Amino acid sequence: VARNPGEAEFHQAVREVFESLEPVVKRHPEYVESKMLERICEPERQIIFRVPWQDDNGEVQVNRGFRVEFNSALGPYKGGLRFHPSVYLGVIKFLGFEQIFKNSLTGLPIGGGKGGSDFDPRGKSEGEVMRFCQSFMTELYRHLGEYTDVPAGDIGVGGREIGFMFGQYKRITNRYESGVLTGKGIAWGGSLVRTEATGYGTVVFANEMLKTKGESFDGKRVVVSGSGNVAIYAAEKAAQLGATVVGFSDSSGFVVDEAGVDLDLLKQVKEIERGRVSDYVDRRPSAKLGNAGGCIWDVPVDVALPCATQNELNLEQAACLIKNGVKVVAEGANMPTTPDAIHALQDAGVLYAPGKAANAGGVATSALEMQQNASRDSWDFEYTEERLTAIMQNIHEICAETADSYDAPGDYVVGANIAGFEKVAKAMQAFGLV
Ligand code: NDP
Repeated sequence: VARNPGEAEFHQAVREVFESLEPVVKRHPEYVESKMLERICEPERQIIFRVPWQDDNGEVQVNRGFRVEFNSALGPYKGGLRFHPSVYLGVIKFLGFEQIFKNSLTGLPIGGGKGGSDFDPRGKSEGEVMRFCQSFMTELYRHLGEYTDVPAGDIGVGGREIGFMFGQYKRITNRYESGVLTGKGIAWGGSLVRTEATGYGTVVFANEMLKTKGESFDGKRVVVSGSGNVAIYAAEKAAQLGATVVGFSDSSGFVVDEAGVDLDLLKQVKEIERGRVSDYVDRRPSAKLGNAGGCIWDVPVDVALPCATQNELNLEQAACLIKNGVKVVAEGANMPTTPDAIHALQDAGVLYAPGKAANAGGVATSALEMQQNASRDSWDFEYTEERLTAIMQNIHEICAETADSYDAPGDYVVGANIAGFEKVAKAMQAFGLV
């Protein structure tokens, strides 16, 4: 903590992983000798840079850009870029740290990294977003490469922003290096299923959790928080599996739609019009805006899927979910559940899966995009989704088996942290003192 002052989210993420690792370190004294834990929480490299750009009034704006290249033991740094006003080094480091173990769990050759900026894309014109992205990439490009560091999207960075950044990368380097960014458009090197992957994968994982209790999504009531990329496709897959998705949210409020969310309308409002949740309610008679002072976690459901942002589900809200009989909480977002809320859910016998396991489908499909780019091939939707589903089922199995082998059956936190760590630690040990 003294070494990284003021980085609360990073401390939280490291504490959560290290708590799980106590029995591993006991079994492996060599990790103590080689200071594995001290090394693994220190990024290999962190880059902080100025991003100047001009707004539509010709005024100069200055933002701060970040890329934390955390760990390359298993492959090139891989992880998204987040554009949100709350971004600072502590957020990027927490995300990068989580990414190391998540990427390890996928079984694919990718290291961990994360980046972004405190730029707020909301309310900006298309031209402003483009000029910002171009300026951001004008610095970042020198740190990237198919074998070095391969960013993707995250909050505030979708296909449009990746397009602007890829265009600038190509222009500066004079290289059509498809494998340098993922989440690209289908016409220019993107992979089918990447848009859907995180949300779909989260639901596949949650379905595996339900199966351990002899249940499935069929007939279940579900809420998602957020209404961005992850939330929309989590809702879509849950509905495909027979669930009724009865609510979603954004930072302006939440919606309850007892008839089941109209996904076409939700996509129209959020993906095309970039509107607010109230725009959905205005056009959907069965939907109503949630009470002021209430929140999405007040809605009685069987499955809750936090898909918005960090620390969005606290102890009080977890207690409300438990009281209403929730069976499964699976994280589409990164670290959305506070540590005390996680303990409360687990103590109440709710099946809980951390984001590093449950939302790994996004980065896994990004790695599949890299495979397609490297072989100059493109796979069809069905085949790519089959690969995604198999990867998520495999992550579930690894987490469950690892939890069992450490006497913590059903504890996906222990399973994900230990299984993710062990591979990275083995590789780092093999490389000597790195
Ligand atoms: P988007 O920008 O597409 O959507 C984010 C959604 O969350 C929006 O509805 C946004 O509402 C809401 N939100 C953001 N901040 C807050 C807040 N402080 N309070 C309430 N709502 C908020 O992002 P993604 O869907 O891509 O990402 C969501 C989460 O999933 C993040 O934690 C991300 O790290 C994680 N994730 C994403 C992956 C991906 O492939 N995209 C992969 C793995 C994890 P508003 O528009 O009002 O801000």
